[in-house]
Amino acid sequence: MIFIASSHLSLAQSPGRAAGSLPTLGDSSELTASAERRLGDRIAVSIYRDPDYLDDPVLGDYVQSIWQPLMAAARSRGELGTELEERFAWDVMLIRNRTVNAFALPGGYLGVHLGLIGVVSSRDELAAVLGHELSHVTQRHISRLITQQNRQTPWVIGAMILGALAASKNPDAASAAIVGGQAVAVQGQLNFSRDMEREADRVGSGVMADAGFDSRGVTGMFEKLQQASRLNDNGSFPYLRSHPLTTERIADAQARLQLAAGSRGPKGGDADSGKALVLHAMMAARARVLGDPGVDALRAMQAQAQRTSPSGQLAPQDAGALYAGALAAGRLRDLGLARSLASRLQSAVVGNPRAANAADLLALELDLQAGSTPAGAAQLDLANASARADVLLKSRALLAVGRAREVSERLQSWVVAHPKDASAWQLLAQAYGRQNEPLRAIRADAESRAAQLDYTAALDRFKGAQNLMRTSRDNSAAANIEGSIIDTRTRELESLLKEQALQDKLDR
Ligand SMILES: [Zn+2]
Repeated sequence: MIFIASSHLSLAQSPGRAAGSLPTLGDSSELTASAERRLGDRIAVSIYRDPDYLDDPVLGDYVQSIWQPLMAAARSRGELGTELEERFAWDVMLIRNRTVNAFALPGGYLGVHLGLIGVVSSRDELAAVLGHELSHVTQRHISRLITQQNRQTPWVIGAMILGALAASKNPDAASAAIVGGQAVAVQGQLNFSRDMEREADRVGSGVMADAGFDSRGVTGMFEKLQQASRLNDNGSFPYLRSHPLTTERIADAQARLQLAAGSRGPKGGDADSGKALVLHAMMAARARVLGDPGVDALRAMQAQAQRTSPSGQLAPQDAGALYAGALAAGRLRDLGLARSLASRLQSAVVGNPRAANAADLLALELDLQAGSTPAGAAQLDLANASARADVLLKSRALLAVGRAREVSERLQSWVVAHPKDASAWQLLAQAYGRQNEPLRAIRADAESRAAQLDYTAALDRFKGAQNLMRTSRDNSAAANIEGSIIDTRTRELESLLKEQALQDKLDR
């Protein structure tokens, strides 16, 4: 492994800097934020196309409920300046992979394996990892790593990172050879230095505490990693390979914990944290099932849920068992059992609004999976839904019962506020299709491709829409407006592609 000489970095003196300014570090040859973003976009396109990339709105909302407070804390501490915030993507991508890992990519893209969400026992532990990764980004560690590779073009660095990601996906060490033999060496070169890790630990724990999370999340996470390394379980803990657990890291974390004791604690009282643990257990259960654990594991989850009969105060592990069992039964096509487990969960979480909402969405999802009319479809209030998982799942449910107009009305305003939401555009395309509005359907489909940076596919669709306009004899005002939007977007995409091709030439 190649470690970057620490004398170049002078991280220890990294002083409090004015908010809004970029970090000034020892190494002056730093990649600009825009250049780093371009590199990140190039990597992100490949990840969006990867079948293991998962846009699960339920887990996505949960991760965002941890991520957003961390971002806000980094902002108010001056770690995250205005320029970086505007230039970077800040997209936390979920990866369908059972191993425990999280990583920061160039340009503000982050990856979280479902295996990590499935193994942490509280939102504080997840916040510890995310705060650490966020700090790698805000401290511009990635930019400095890339600058170190100054003999490589951005194009090659992008390919190296993708190669390292592909290699880390398969815990089997032999897989590295499949990716061309270079992957292991590459990963070594792209690893952060010890100083960077120390800084990410320090800044990350500050961000996490300011965001209102319990600092014990860090030590809890370390204990898990320690256990895994004792069991020599590196295969399922790739995070350990990129983040070796040194006695120094553990000692530092414990020292910080002692400092924090008494001065800061989690927001809310015990009742609140009990409720948060129930929701967390449900989300961890979801991550374990969506991680494709195999039929035997699904059956075991189903059986465990059947043995679970919560009484009195709901224990998090019981909520998790019921959630996992219901979802697993759904996967095993035992929809009767799935529904009955979900409804037991629904009655068990009464009085815990966020967990109750998650249980309701689970029931809705299972109905949709059964292809049956969702039980409560008549009462579904899409117009007032505001959380992304609510909006997207309720849209799917209403599409299934033929209420496409309500769906397009809600999603139209949703995509105005969230133009990068590819899944929402995709659902909107379906809703227009059902209402026999082919032009709008094609445009929404095109936008969903553009949202995932696939400009070629987007342009194809916009051109298809232009052809359709020419052949249709619709001269209504509405069709003309639609036509001019399509023309404008076609030109925008064309110039984006031209720019990209030019940049690619420079970066090669
Ligand atoms: Zn790190």
